Amino acid sequence: MNYISTRGGKDIVSAAGAIKQGLASDGGLFMPQSIPQIDGQDLAELCEMSYPERAAYILSRFLDDYSYEELLEDCEKAYSPDRFVGGAAPLRKLNDDIFVLELWHGPTSAFKDMALQIMPKLLSRALVKTGEKRTAFILVATSGDTGKAALEGYRDVPGVKIMVFYPVDGVSRVQKLQMSTQLGENVSVCAIEGNFDDAQTGVKKIFGDAEMAALLNDNDVFLSSANSINWGRLAPQIVYYVSAYCDLLNAGEIIAGEMIDITVPTGNFGNIFAAYIAKSMGLPINRLVCASNKNNILTDFLATGTYDRNRQFYTTMSPSMDILISSNLERLLYVMSGCENTAELMKKLNTEGAYTIDSTLKAKLDEHFTGLFCDEENTAAEIKRTFNEDGYLIDTHTAVGLNCAKQYMEANPDGLKMVVASTASPYKFASDVYTSITGKAPTDELSALDELSALTSTEIPYPLKDIDKREVRFKTVIEKQAMPAEVLKNLGIKG
Ligand SMILES: *Cc1c(COP(=O)(O)O)cnc(C)c1O
Repeated sequence: MNYISTRGGKDIVSAAGAIKQGLASDGGLFMPQSIPQIDGQDLAELCEMSYPERAAYILSRFLDDYSYEELLEDCEKAYSPDRFVGGAAPLRKLNDDIFVLELWHGPTSAFKDMALQIMPKLLSRALVKTGEKRTAFILVATSGDTGKAALEGYRDVPGVKIMVFYPVDGVSRVQKLQMSTQLGENVSVCAIEGNFDDAQTGVKKIFGDAEMAALLNDNDVFLSSANSINWGRLAPQIVYYVSAYCDLLNAGEIIAGEMIDITVPTGNFGNIFAAYIAKSMGLPINRLVCASNKNNILTDFLATGTYDRNRQFYTTMSPSMDILISSNLERLLYVMSGCENTAELMKKLNTEGAYTIDSTLKAKLDEHFTGLFCDEENTAAEIKRTFNEDGYLIDTHTAVGLNCAKQYMEANPDGLKMVVASTASPYKFASDVYTSITGKAPTDELSALDELSALTSTEIPYPLKDIDKREVRFKTVIEKQAMPAEVLKNLGIKG
């Protein structure tokens, strides 16, 4: 299977090539030339499998230059029970109609682990498959979750080094501690004076710097990226929707072929796009509910057909969804309207910050997607209600999803089972979760974990336990202008 650009450029690469390269050379995203199909017989087989086996089965359909044995070996390691304590993607029944797909049992307590535990292994093999001799240097700008998940995933992976930049005052205390105490010989973490945009802009500049690329190349290094525009991050996310369907079948909650609805709390549109691919593969999914927080640009887009980023940006208690440019939406536009139209829309987004799709494309979107949003007040209320009435503790992002799922079900009583993707452990956002339930602030951000645990009689997950007692390895803070120099210093290259 070949991978091509959403913008019609001439790159045609294998799966390994797409994973290694990340972004197509015309600025587009890589997509498989066709979507493999699964039928009832496949699903029956998948029902009998463990999570790593299901993952290898689905991935092998997309990554056909990797052998099934290679994929199974990697999946067994990536989703092992000592890394995913409590299961890789367990489905929890909330009530007769709603099921919560818990995607946060991995080593950083957020759903990014589902992809970032396996993708480094895929990249490592891609280097071998493509005859790459240089070291891959993964450069990440993070507002919190991605940085930690990438560090944990790439730690001690052969042939790869990783460096993460974060805004010194732009991440939570827990997130800062998660990163600064990171273990591994090939990792490095650096804070910059500035905000997330400064970090992001700095990283993009380094990626676009031809002189830098030449200097790195002379030293047998090339740059690579770990964010969700890489197909290697998307493919593993398709798996858990298929897995959830199998779990519903196995539990006797649905019969073979029965349709389900899915709600995904959305930021960059990666996770929900993976659900759409699962649907395109033939998984019986009726509707995809795209849940947004107060930054409801996607809700507006799905309602009106106009995407307009010229709007106020809000900082919310679900920060991983505080996004005004949902990069993976490009993949959906491509699938539904082709590369020429996509290239044109992306150009408009770049120059005018807005675009409007035609009525044919709008009708295609309407066939599959509903966009809804949940504001701050309702997010807090959803957390409180779910804990008090269902005895179930959810984080702020999951609360947005659950609230939108309920809105959808009320307006469309189709009687189908609803699966809601749960994207973070409540302990990752302990302070806001605690305040939502009690109406008062915890003593401070770190003690919030213990206070939430005492209040709810639930356990702090292992990745966050005693985080303040670990050794801080990375203390460097630099000016944003010094980022390229810091990269070279890290690699031991004289600029
Ligand atoms: C990244 C993230 C999201 C958004 O996922 P996308 O794939 O960007 O849409 C939602 N919740 C949490 C906790 C996240 O870390």
